[in-house]
Amino acid sequence: MALQTSAQDLSYYLPDDVTYNPAIPKPKDIIFHEVGEWHVTHDRLVNYMRAIAAAAPDRVKLETMGFTYENRPQVLLIITSPKNQQHLEEIRQQHLLLSDPSKSASVNIENMPIVVWIGHSIHGNEQSGSNAALLSAYYLAAAQGKQIDELLDNVVILFDPSFNPDGMQRFSTWVNEHRSKNLVTDPNSREFNEAWPGGRFNHYWFDLNRDWLPSVHIESQNRLEWFHKWKPNILTDHHEQGSNATFFFQPGVPARVNPLTPDKNQELTNKLAKFHAKALDKIGSLYFTKESYDDFYYGKGSTYPDINGAIGILFEQASSRGHAQETVNGILKFPATIKNQFVTALSTLEGAKNLRKEFLDWQRAFYVGSMKEAATAPVQGYVFGDVNDRNKTELFVAMLLRQQVAVYKPKNDISVNGKTFKADDAFVVPMQQNQYKVLRTIFEKTLNYKDSLFYDITSWTMPLAFGMPYSELSATQFNNNLLGQKITQEYKLNGEVSGGKSNYGYLMKWTDLYAPAALYELQKNNIITKTATEKFEIPVGAVNQEFNAGTILIGVNNQPLDADKLFSLLSDVAKKYGIPFYSIQTGNAVTGIDMGSRKIVALTKPSIAMITGAGVSATDAGEVWHLLDQRMNIPATHLEPAVFNRVDLSRYNTMIMVSGSYNELNKEKLKAWVSNGGNLILLEEAVQWASANGINTVTLKKVKSPTDSAKRVPYGEEDEIDGAQQMSGAIFSADVDLTHPLAYGYTEKNISFFKANRVYMERSKNVYATPFYYKENPLQSGWISKENSDAIKNSAAVIVNTLGSGRIINIDNNPNFRAFWLGGTKLMMNAIFFGKIIDAASGRVEE
Ligand SMILES: [Zn+2]
Repeated sequence: MALQTSAQDLSYYLPDDVTYNPAIPKPKDIIFHEVGEWHVTHDRLVNYMRAIAAAAPDRVKLETMGFTYENRPQVLLIITSPKNQQHLEEIRQQHLLLSDPSKSASVNIENMPIVVWIGHSIHGNEQSGSNAALLSAYYLAAAQGKQIDELLDNVVILFDPSFNPDGMQRFSTWVNEHRSKNLVTDPNSREFNEAWPGGRFNHYWFDLNRDWLPSVHIESQNRLEWFHKWKPNILTDHHEQGSNATFFFQPGVPARVNPLTPDKNQELTNKLAKFHAKALDKIGSLYFTKESYDDFYYGKGSTYPDINGAIGILFEQASSRGHAQETVNGILKFPATIKNQFVTALSTLEGAKNLRKEFLDWQRAFYVGSMKEAATAPVQGYVFGDVNDRNKTELFVAMLLRQQVAVYKPKNDISVNGKTFKADDAFVVPMQQNQYKVLRTIFEKTLNYKDSLFYDITSWTMPLAFGMPYSELSATQFNNNLLGQKITQEYKLNGEVSGGKSNYGYLMKWTDLYAPAALYELQKNNIITKTATEKFEIPVGAVNQEFNAGTILIGVNNQPLDADKLFSLLSDVAKKYGIPFYSIQTGNAVTGIDMGSRKIVALTKPSIAMITGAGVSATDAGEVWHLLDQRMNIPATHLEPAVFNRVDLSRYNTMIMVSGSYNELNKEKLKAWVSNGGNLILLEEAVQWASANGINTVTLKKVKSPTDSAKRVPYGEEDEIDGAQQMSGAIFSADVDLTHPLAYGYTEKNISFFKANRVYMERSKNVYATPFYYKENPLQSGWISKENSDAIKNSAAVIVNTLGSGRIINIDNNPNFRAFWLGGTKLMMNAIFFGKIIDAASGRVEE
């Protein structure tokens, strides 16, 4: 079936009882096509926003929040009445007082505008939102009359036309290049089936709609700065869902609201929903509420506002995914999807205007209520800090600062619950502060849930994710006298060569997050590097110091650089990564192995390929890419299976396969490459694939069924029972063999892993080959069914196999999860740098 272009002029979308200022350019004047005729690219979207701001400076102010990885601007329009524009800063300052319970009581909200953030298309391939932004911006800048004047007098609109510019550009390019003049509506057509990795993600293939809380990515960081600069009362999050669906707006499933979100939040969500229902009824659109979607994980845009005194609203429009597509509801045309988004952006503003005082009051009450709860909370503070990994600790502090948490240095050392936190290396957060609820969601573990179905992960306890030593401080353990200097900005550590230039050698500890980055930088400069496989004690200056296994030795003799140049390189690397090197003058250890011991082994510079492409989990692959590229400055080749099958693999000594299915890959070639000395790292479902294809020697455990096949179960319970068996993602503690090369740099006997899969490995028959395993009760936080819980008990988290002269490292969890699971980083980097030095006999299994 073919369709002529479904171009619609503005009259299709806009309310017909309104006149428009002719001086304001229409979208077509700037983007060269009608809204919905093509997918607007990000560049043209920005051009239009600029044009609007230039033509209507009395109503519209354009700000640039920052730039994406691909250097696209993240623009924000601030739209309000000319009168408000003249007092914008004053309005902002007054508005912020509502979020400060020490000052909010006296704030008069009688004439105060409400602040609404309208946000579009965080998933790049859900573009009806950003295309509707053209219409909303035009309407808000150009509409004339009493109604718009009243709206703009009462509302300050923070208008974010694209939450994910890089993804938007990728997707719009894809659908436009496949569009036919006679629109093809067959869902099988290439237009509707994007090439891997698709436009949903940001540059590094991350889902930005999971990043509001950890805020790892530049897009989130730029946006959060403006979010907290204004602290909006409402934030909308315009998405798309499957093509056969209709339209969804929040409230979502009541039982799946995060317990930290107050009931009043959902009450206001319901009140706002009446406005959306009315607007959609008027144009005849079908919709649903209270199903499918939830309000649980604060990393999502529609949930994050709920613990920040605001209300987040999720919209989900059925996707045409291209320009027009056949669905069970007939042919879904792109313009129709845009219209629903436009109409609900306006209904949000209409609701905000009508419920203005109630929302403003709620923001004030939210913070007063939080403070009241904080005053009587059993936990009054947290102390944290990793004396062995100061860079990781600083990243944790930076994350708290982005969430507007007040962080302090302790005045003195703090000894609590059997742990001592040295004042120099630790930080304290008091619970009695405005961001009390945010702190709770960052620090708390959760083991009780009202429901067993989840849209996303069930737990995200940040100190566990970071592998950060921490402790609660109870009311009797905490008082304000513990607090020293307040931290006001991110701190960049300054590393140096302790002890100055040496003519003998240098040591670098392996405990710091950035130690692998520093090592690679040396290897890149052809410096000969070795690692100690046992601990030792040696003089550094006048003091004997202990060094654990994993410590890197750089001898001065025989290097391509002379002693002066080597010292200068090490000084630069120390400074760049904020890591100390230690100068030694002797190879003679006080205790343990000497520097010439055969237990100090030479390392090879990793030359890495990661299999990417169709079938591979883009987010998991993206996490590896981001880790290596952004944090470690290590290049990795992205190898498509077809290319893998064709090329000479001998230039790679390390191969990474993340969760995925690899049916196209030449298995014999992979095995031969490992046998020749390759180091193969398998994550999650890749372990399962390798097991099924005879590549590794891992035995997988079967998970028991929750039902008895001899008994009938009501059909109506299927969703609930099957859904509960999914592993949405929870946190498990694993026991660590600290003597194993894969554990170098870890100092604690237990490590927290994040697992969101049903791959359960039996422990290896070789007693040395399971350096990480789960014990009897490994669940630390999150939800898991009884059947999954039984399966994970005593199972292996990491197994090493030997194949020929190569190694296969099987990891059952995701050590790189969403780039905030820094507790797993060491394992991943150890697998890359130390896989080759693992003793062959320790990984061999007789079959
Ligand atoms: Zn989405």
